[in-house]
Amino acid sequence: MAIPDSQNYNATVVARIDYSPSLRTYYLQPDQPFERYQAGQYVTLGLESSVPRSGPIVEEMRVPQEGKMVLRAYSIASAGFETDVLQFFVAHVPEGSLTPRVWSLEPGDRIQIGRRIIGNFTAENAMTKTLVMVGTGTGIAPFLAMVRQHAAVRPDLRFVLLHGATRRSELGHHSEFRALAFALPNFVYLPAISRPHLDPLWKGQIGRLTVYFQDQGRLLAEQARATLDPTKTDVYLCGSPGMVRDISAILEPLGYAKWTKANPHSLHIEEYWKDKE
Ligand SMILES: Cc1cc2nc3c(=O)[nH]c(=O)nc-3n(C[C@H](O)[C@H](O)[C@H](O)COP(=O)(O)OP(=O)(O)OC[C@H]3O[C@@H](n4cnc5c(N)ncnc54)[C@H](O)[C@@H]3O)c2cc1C
Repeated sequence: MAIPDSQNYNATVVARIDYSPSLRTYYLQPDQPFERYQAGQYVTLGLESSVPRSGPIVEEMRVPQEGKMVLRAYSIASAGFETDVLQFFVAHVPEGSLTPRVWSLEPGDRIQIGRRIIGNFTAENAMTKTLVMVGTGTGIAPFLAMVRQHAAVRPDLRFVLLHGATRRSELGHHSEFRALAFALPNFVYLPAISRPHLDPLWKGQIGRLTVYFQDQGRLLAEQARATLDPTKTDVYLCGSPGMVRDISAILEPLGYAKWTKANPHSLHIEEYWKDKE
């Protein structure tokens, strides 16, 4: 069912890939091509509150005002030069306001992409030549953009991606990352699943991504030749507040501090939502 059009919309859904019932990548074509952006930056996506909520929904946590646009931030998953069609990797949140409305979208439907492209969670802000990127769930979106944009043309940089999910079907873009790691000598891809009983045929790493950082990063050194030293390795954390908290707590005693514009350091954090109090 097509959703009603709105004068607030400025982009069209041109394709959609469903990785699992709650994980999708949307391909959105803006009416006017975007300016170039830095891989890792984000924009807002918006839909009118009148768009129906779909998927496995529960009661809406924050009911939007009638007639208002529902806006949320999303990392752009496509490389910064792909300005004619932008990709977004989105997780359905059953109590959420925007994502269940996004789940109503089919190719041909319209949406708003905010024109302001923002964020400092970019490879340009790395302090060293080795970037260890840690993403849970849709938290890999900015890393997808960074690897697509930089890995092939920046042989002076090394990219290590730790990709965590509950099971294999939730490791969206897994086969693209595997192919890139096979093709590019400066890109290492290490996926891990936390619920192996849901995927008994999985032969890779099991457990939470914190496992790579324990014992001074022994596993990270063994599998990716990366050292947990802020003068040698930048760490980028993106996704759930729990992962960000747990890995930051391991890194801080090793000398890592959070990157800010005023005080650049080698720990870069993009937290997608806050823990419920
Ligand atoms: C800079 C930035 C970039 C982001 N990029 C992405 C992205 O690329 N892909 C993406 O899917 N999301 C991304 N997010 C999260 C996104 O902005 C929304 O918060 C999320 O999609 C939920 O929106 P909603 O309106 O459906 O739920 P809301 O109504 O905003 O939230 C409902 C509840 O769910 C919690 N919540 C929000 N997200 C999740 C989640 N993924 N899992 C579990 N609980 C959650 C909220 O804290 C709240 O308690 C990003 C957030 C930020 C700040």
